[in-house]
Amino acid sequence: MEPDKVRLSNVRYAVGGVEILKGVTTSVDMGEVVSIVGPSGAGKSTLLRTVNRLVEPTSGEIFLDGVATSEMNPLELRRRVGMVFQLPALFGETVADVILYGLRLVGRSTDVRHLLESVGLNPSIAGRDPQSLSVGQQQRVSIARALALEPEVLLMDEPTSALDQAARQRVEDLIEDLNSRLDLTIVVVSHALDQVERVADRVLLLVDGRSEGEWSKEEFFYGKVAKQVRQFIAGEL
Ligand code: ADP
Ligand code: MG
Repeated sequence: MEPDKVRLSNVRYAVGGVEILKGVTTSVDMGEVVSIVGPSGAGKSTLLRTVNRLVEPTSGEIFLDGVATSEMNPLELRRRVGMVFQLPALFGETVADVILYGLRLVGRSTDVRHLLESVGLNPSIAGRDPQSLSVGQQQRVSIARALALEPEVLLMDEPTSALDQAARQRVEDLIEDLNSRLDLTIVVVSHALDQVERVADRVLLLVDGRSEGEWSKEEFFYGKVAKQVRQFIAGEL
């Protein structure tokens, strides 16, 4: 049997004497889209960041294809496990600079225009100042930047919460497209249940640093047990 694409085993994280993650165990299958939901302050962003070691767990272990990430070179890990943040922070004079930045560090390049097309942007923006783009366009550039490194897993931390409805829809469509076209494994922290319903295969509920349950999308949205959970989350988000 194939090992899980990502597996978290009793992951804890404490800072300043406060335990933010209190022993999270879960796994993500290859090619799956998992949504992490939960109240503000639950530790969702922290959990996501442990997966590519932007945050180092205090204890526990995370595995990528069965190999402990603590044993990997963090830069190589971050090439394989990309991250998209809530607000796109694009450094560079042009869109092409932004996209090529990570590749140049490792002496590589890519077809920027093709990459822009693949995230639904007009390739003609390659030479533009990223700051002149709308936030929605900037977010798709930040996704293109992550894709440039040909990641196997994409971590997305509330990637649409700063976007208007139309831009948000485009990013959700893109999540589905990347998942089906590239078989990309995606873990996305979501703040809206309608988004979870559109993009996720599975839902993980994090409350106060603990996993309080995992459901398939079908169980979560149409199952009896999950109804109260859904109402709880809808009230919290
Ligand atoms: P979420 O993304 O679910 O809103 P976070 O992971 O951002 O939650 O944060 C969880 C809790 O951990 C919050 O109470 C936050 O203030 C705290 N926290 C996160 N990072 C740090 C840090 N570096 N130092 C101190 N507290 C932190
Ligand atoms: Mg967060």
